[in-house]
Amino acid sequence: MRAYLKQPLAIATLVACLCGLLTLAQPLDQIYWNMRFLFGQQEAPQSIVLVRIDDVDGKTANTLAEDDEVRLLKVLAEQAPEHIFIDRKISDRSSLQLVSELRTLDHKVSLVARFAEPDTLSPQAIDLPGPAVTGGVPVVVSGWLTNFWRYGTNAPYAVKLGDKTFPTLSAAMAGKSGTTESFYRPDFTIDPSTVRTISASQLLLGNVAPGLLTGRIVVVTEARSGPGMRIGYFGHGQVDPLYLDIAGVAGLRSGLALNIEWFPLVLLFAGMALLASRLGTRRLRYPAYVAVGVVTLFGPVLLEQLGIYSNPSASLVAALAYGALRLWAKWRRRMLQTSASGLPNFVALASRPVPTGHDVVVATISRYEEFLATLSQNLHGECARQISRRFSVGCRTNEIFHGDGGHFAWVEPARSAEQQIEHFEGMRALFSAPLLVGGHMFDTNVHFGLDRNYEYDTLTRLNTALVAATEALKNGRTIEQFEANRLANAPWELSLLARIDEGMRNGDIWLAFQPQWDYRELRICGAEALIRWNDPVRGPIRPDEFILQAERAGRIDALTYWVLDQAITAAEDFNTFGPPFQMSINLSAQMVDKPSLVSSIGEIVQRRGIDARLLTVEVTETASVYNRPAAIRNLQQLRTMGFRLSIDDFGTGEASLCYLADLPSDELKLDRRFVSRIVKHERERQIVLSTINLAHALRQTVVAEGIEDLPTFDALRQMGCDVGQGYYIGRPETFEQLRGRYAAMAVDRGSLFGTN
Ligand code: C2E
Ligand code: CA
Ligand code: CA
Repeated sequence: MRAYLKQPLAIATLVACLCGLLTLAQPLDQIYWNMRFLFGQQEAPQSIVLVRIDDVDGKTANTLAEDDEVRLLKVLAEQAPEHIFIDRKISDRSSLQLVSELRTLDHKVSLVARFAEPDTLSPQAIDLPGPAVTGGVPVVVSGWLTNFWRYGTNAPYAVKLGDKTFPTLSAAMAGKSGTTESFYRPDFTIDPSTVRTISASQLLLGNVAPGLLTGRIVVVTEARSGPGMRIGYFGHGQVDPLYLDIAGVAGLRSGLALNIEWFPLVLLFAGMALLASRLGTRRLRYPAYVAVGVVTLFGPVLLEQLGIYSNPSASLVAALAYGALRLWAKWRRRMLQTSASGLPNFVALASRPVPTGHDVVVATISRYEEFLATLSQNLHGECARQISRRFSVGCRTNEIFHGDGGHFAWVEPARSAEQQIEHFEGMRALFSAPLLVGGHMFDTNVHFGLDRNYEYDTLTRLNTALVAATEALKNGRTIEQFEANRLANAPWELSLLARIDEGMRNGDIWLAFQPQWDYRELRICGAEALIRWNDPVRGPIRPDEFILQAERAGRIDALTYWVLDQAITAAEDFNTFGPPFQMSINLSAQMVDKPSLVSSIGEIVQRRGIDARLLTVEVTETASVYNRPAAIRNLQQLRTMGFRLSIDDFGTGEASLCYLADLPSDELKLDRRFVSRIVKHERERQIVLSTINLAHALRQTVVAEGIEDLPTFDALRQMGCDVGQGYYIGRPETFEQLRGRYAAMAVDRGSLFGTN
């Protein structure tokens, strides 16, 4: 039932009923009936003739000398009209001659009195001629009820004033009688300009053919103007109310005058629209809708011809609302599908909720744009549909959404990690057969992005799955899952740019220095600069974590150059004490292959005027170096500038030996995973020992990282390690702390600089 109520037709009908009940759309009724004349007009009844008092004496209109007045009556009576209505004011001073003339006309004459204002059919609003004037001549009244725009709409058959009831002019002219409670409506199809009118002066001059008025209704009238004297006539603006009276005659004569108001029209519209919407094919449906529109628009006019009046506003509202809702639905449908393939698009997916316990999956077709480039435009859709069909088979859902480029998405029940991999490998296998589109064959490959952040909305989940799919494509992996904590960090990560700059400025970001011990010289010979970030809100942030984020945010360059600058300041200070002090800095793998790296570092070194030989650049072997030859070239150039090169975390990378072979390095840093185990584990001991020998054979200085206790420290000395670093020797500390220690040791040369 609820779904049914959401249907455009139901909504349109409800809206229309509301408008009808609250008469909200009444202005539309008025506009409709005002435009009524556009649908065809007819001539005024020829049985009514107006005799207009005009410029009889060549001076003023609307006035007639008393004898002319009497004469006019006589002339009129001679023509033997059916009835004469004197629709003008006859003053109380009118002569006895006129009154007696009126009386001689017996029952063939009536006087007309008009209400001064429409809608107020009360004795105060009318000036009834007194008995002295009428002398027994019948009086009829004219008064119209109007809408709020003061357009005449209907009138009663009779009006009760005091204890007397007077018929209204239209009723009297039409020869119909009725109660004060029964009403008639003017027939607005009558064109007021077709009412027959002759001039009183011409009549008096004898210029009117005899017999013209015979058997007709004659209304003697004067030109009326001024406020209150005109009234709205649908389709013709403000007119003399007499025209409304004549239209009233036509309305009365057409017989039946039923007002069905608005509801039957709404019902008719709803019924027709329902039938039209049920028609099977478009070819039938469209003409049917047009027919419904035509009937809704012109129906009331046709009904009016039968004397059935109505208020078409509500049904027009229904038709407009229905049309608008249908168009909107169509437009939305268009918005929700890709134009080329007709498949639902990502907007469509994002606009619905994901069922609980379901994953959002985005699949990316590698080289999709390339295929499209080789296909003619009209085959693009076919290509997408073929791919979609394969996914459909693979994940057993009919709903595959197609995003921009080679992205396809769907929703599927969550699987365990193992099943998931199996499932995606299976899907991938579906693409091992080439695509065949328009005679072209394509080999392709798919990568999947998975989102399991169940607590987020569909759009967010779709986006994260998309990011994951793009990463999978980039890293050449089958599937990549978007980690939930990345999403939680997203707002923080997004503002990282500004925060890093701010942190470097206000001291939240600072450098710690960890001392390095020279085994041969028995002194602190240098330090490694390690970045620190104490965020006022999040507390200390681990360097490897925010370095990764800085890399993603593209802020790693600024950070690295800042570190270099700070490290140089520290190195200059330590070197004032005498023996050379070696300062090491870390270079992110993201940066080593940058074209601007050497020039930027060169610029800093030159500006600071430091001997580059006092600086060591530590690089880690990572698979993520994008352009390996460029990286090696950069490092070689740095070395030419004087920098020492150190291979950090040696032994952990996949190709450390390759690196060692390719790189013109000076130093090799043994990773702490090996170092920490040499005392207890023979294998690691042998690895470290042979690595030290290998390094020495290649003329490398060996630095052991992560020395946490005396036995390890001693073992490394025995193995011939050159330099040690670790908590046992000294933790990373502030510049002031390390400097204080270094200065104190410098005084006690025995402990700091060895025994000699
Ligand atoms: P790394 O280059 O291998 O730095 C050595 C890490 O080992 C440091 O961690 C240091 O605090 C820690 N460490 C030193 N001695 C010991 C020990 O005896 N035991 C243990 N368990 N750990 C010890 P930290 O400072 O947290 O830095 C982590 C990583 O962040 C660094 O690893 C480096 O890759 C990166 N990093 C730090 N500062 C920078 C920087 O300025 N630039 C770049 N690109 N990376 C940096
Ligand atoms: Ca390091
Ligand atoms: Ca290291």
